[in-house]
Formats: sequence, structure tokens, C-alpha cells
Amino acid sequence: MRMSDEFLNVQLLISGTWQDAADGRTLPLLDPATGETIGKIAHASKKELALAAEGAAKGFDAWRTLTAWDRFVIMRRAANLLRERAQSIGRIMSREQGKPLEQAIIEIQGAANVIEYFGEEGRRLNDVLVPPRAPNVEQRVLHRPVGVVAAFTPWNFPINQIARKLGAALGAGCAVIVKAPEDTPASPAELIRAFLDAGVPAGTVSLVYGEPAEISEYLIAHPVVRKISFTGSTPVGKHLAALAGAQMKPVTMELGGHAPVIVCADADLDKAAERLCAAKFRNAGQVCIAPTRFLLEQSIAPTFVEKFKARMNALKVGRGVDEGVTMGPLVNQRRVKALHDLVEDARAKGATIWQAETAIPNEGCFFAPTLILNPTLDMRVMQEEPFGPLAIVADFTSLSDAVAEANRLPYGLAAYAYTSNERTQRLLGEKVEAGMVAINHHGIGVPEVPFGGIKDSGYGTEGGPEALRAHTYIKFVSSEQAKADF
Ligand code: NAD
Repeated sequence: MRMSDEFLNVQLLISGTWQDAADGRTLPLLDPATGETIGKIAHASKKELALAAEGAAKGFDAWRTLTAWDRFVIMRRAANLLRERAQSIGRIMSREQGKPLEQAIIEIQGAANVIEYFGEEGRRLNDVLVPPRAPNVEQRVLHRPVGVVAAFTPWNFPINQIARKLGAALGAGCAVIVKAPEDTPASPAELIRAFLDAGVPAGTVSLVYGEPAEISEYLIAHPVVRKISFTGSTPVGKHLAALAGAQMKPVTMELGGHAPVIVCADADLDKAAERLCAAKFRNAGQVCIAPTRFLLEQSIAPTFVEKFKARMNALKVGRGVDEGVTMGPLVNQRRVKALHDLVEDARAKGATIWQAETAIPNEGCFFAPTLILNPTLDMRVMQEEPFGPLAIVADFTSLSDAVAEANRLPYGLAAYAYTSNERTQRLLGEKVEAGMVAINHHGIGVPEVPFGGIKDSGYGTEGGPEALRAHTYIKFVSSEQAKADF
């Protein structure tokens, strides 16, 4: 039986007013679990983008002139509204994105924590007095908000991806134009509504949808926009970074990954199988930091694989809003085809394909939890990010070979290891080339620590005080003062 949830009508937010596109253009919003149309999205044209930029310039003036304390109070209020509304917004997110309701609610609560953290951190954006070399000179180093930020966010974590960008930008005193994902537009709109209800001035936060390439080209070149922040695939990230470079505008880029996980023979294999299975299949594997290449020490590889398969068989795949479901569908048919093509390529090149013995709905965008065994380097999946419920399993006999394989790809976002040996833990923490390395657990992503990658996985961070600072420019002011006459 289908839930009689309401039809979702997602509008643009420009200068503090929710509105349709002037030409009435819309895009359909589909439920990935069924393929049904569950809503519509206003599609911005250049006219709305120009108005959004104009409104954001005014919103920036209003926001930056508030005290850091007043900005914090508004941000904390927005975070609390999100917490209060987590259940209803979670349901919207689950319907449009497919993820289990429980995971959607956890995401929203996490987003509230991120927003609160950056509001607090904004109060600690202290200026500095540098001791001068000449008498009566005062040297001040000021941190000031860069201005209007254009933020482009993806569909895998519809709210949390925006919360990180919005939190850091607002905490630093910037205004933001959010281009949220057309695949999952309705839950982001509810996030933005919480900010409006909390009292952000009109234009401080704007929300647009439409043709992604048209919007990014327009906004990145617009003189009002002073910083670009993007989360998505590496090819699109490189394209947007080039557009921003041509305008001499700073960027934060959080791009793809292909996370290695090294499981040593001395690891607690039950704990490793349990935690890695949860991390791999959360959000149907559509996570930039999801473990992907499982490198198992040869002596324990068969045992680990059996334990991991047993956990995969226990996954309950279905509609995110249905009771007890632990894995939902992929976000759209494009992603189903991408996964299918990677698996068939591996099969044709000699891999063994194993799929979980759990029931998979035969409608919508579902894809079975899959293992690729006996991989070889010529397989596409060994180079390309699968971004889905698929793990590749290989084994190793020497730790240095495992590290070489972990570092083989141009990606460098997250990496994991399981080992009880403290020396190996420290060694892997140093030698594995990634922006984030987690050992024996998956403690990545809390607001106060860095979140970001190296190499083709991007640059900049979306966590910790550094993320806030990346939304400021540094100004040096030096003044010589009259000598005191007493
Ligand atoms: P994609 O790069 O085409 O799209 C990702 C997001 O970027 C989408 O929301 C899309 O609307 C937006 N986008 C695309 N082209 C754009 C442009 N020219 N200007 C502005 N925004 C643009 O990828 P996809 O097919 O939607 O997703 C698959 C791949 O994206 C994955 O393989 C993964 O690498 C990457 N991805 C990464 C993350 C992450 O958290 N790092 C999240 C989602 C997707």
C-alpha cells in the first residue's frame, strides 16, 4: 500500500520570498523507490538568477552588520527548528532520496549540530594585533567575510551537504546562494525554511534549481559572487574550479573518492565486518567516504568474506519509509545503469560477482548489495568510483603492498584500516594518502574536525575552524598614531 503523502511543490527562494519561475517552468520530482511523480520543482532562468544575486548582495550587507553573537543566536535557533522538525523533514527526504527514514533523521540531527557548531565558531573569529617594529604603530590582522558564496550541492545527503556549506559561510558572516540538487530538492527547501523561520534577513540565504551547468556558469561569473563551494564528482569539480579560476575566485571542492580499507590479520574481524558493512551500505553506498576497495590480509581473507557476506544477507532492502528497511534504492536510473555497467565490465574481465541473498523490489531504482571478487587492474571499477552498494575484495601478503594499492589511484578522500597493532595504526595513519584516515572505527564527519580530500578528491575542508576561515579574507591594517604627550 502506498502512503498518501502530499504532493511536493518546491519553489525558489529569492530575496526572502518563495516563488515559482516567472515563465512557470518546472521539473518533475520522482520517488526512486517506485518511479512515481511525487512533486514538482521550480526551474530558474537567468532572470531569477540575476534577482537572486541582487537579493544576496543586500542579504550579505544585512547579515555581516549583525554582531557575531546575533548571528549565532539565529543559527542556533535554526538548528533547534531542524531538530524539532526532524521527523517530518526526514520523511520528505526519505521519499525523494530513497534512504531509510532513520538514516534521514540522523542526517538532519547531524546537520543541526553542524549549524550550531559553525554559529559558535563564528564568535571566535578573532582579529589579531601584531607587535610593531616601529613606535606608535598599530598592526591589525582582520578576518572579514568574503561576500556572497555560490554553493552547489549533491543529492546523496540532501541536507547535510548544504548544512556544511551554509554553516561555515553564515558563521563567517557571508550570504549564500544554494543551488541544491534537482533529484532531491524538497528536503533542502525545508532546511532553508528553518533559517528563514529563525530570522535570517531576506536575501542572506537564497535557493535555486534549474539546469546545473547554466546556473554554475552564470553565478560563478557574476561579480556579486565571491566564493564557490562544490560537492560532487571530480570531473564537474575540475570544470567549476577552472571557471572560478578564470574569475580569480576561491573555491572549496569536496569531490569523489575510492576509499581503501586495509584489514590486517590481527584485527577484530567481527567488529570489522559489522562496522564495514554498515559503512558500505549506508545510503545504498552513495557516500563519498564509503569504503570501496577491501584489501584483506591473505590469511584471514576467506573468514572475513564469510562474515561480511552474512551481514550483507541480513540487509533489508526496500522503500526508505517502510518499517525495518536498512537499504533503500539508488537515487535515479542513471546511477542504476552506472553500477550495472561497472559490474558487467568486471564480470567480462574475469571477476567473480556475488550478490546478497536478500529480497530486492523489482520496481524503481534498486540495486542488490554486491561484492566483486578476484579483481584485476584492467577493470573499470578498480579506477572509477562506484558510488553505490558495491565492494571490491582483494588480498595482500605484505603491508607495504597494501599501502601501495591504497595509494594507487589519484583519489585521496577517506581511507580505513582495521588492526590491533598500535605501530601499524600509526604507520598507516602516516603512509596512506588521504584527507581522512579512520582506524578500527568510522569516526569521520563530526563538525569540529577537518572534512576534505587531497589529490583528485578536492581541496579545502568542510569541518573545523579551517572551514570557517575559508569563508573569510585576511586584511592587514597598519596605522601610525600620534605620540602620547604624557
Ligand atoms: P555529477 O557530478 O554529475 O553531479 C553531482 C552534483 O553536481 C549533482 O547534484 C548535479 O546537479 C551537480 N552538477 C552537475 N553538473 C554541474 C555543473 N556543471 N554545475 C553545477 N553543478 C553541477 O554526478 P552524478 O551523476 O549526479 O553523481 C555521480 C557521481 O557524483 C559519483 O560517482 C560521485 O563521484 C559524485 N558525487 C559525489 C558526492 C560527494 O559527496 N562527494 C556526492 C554526490 C555525487
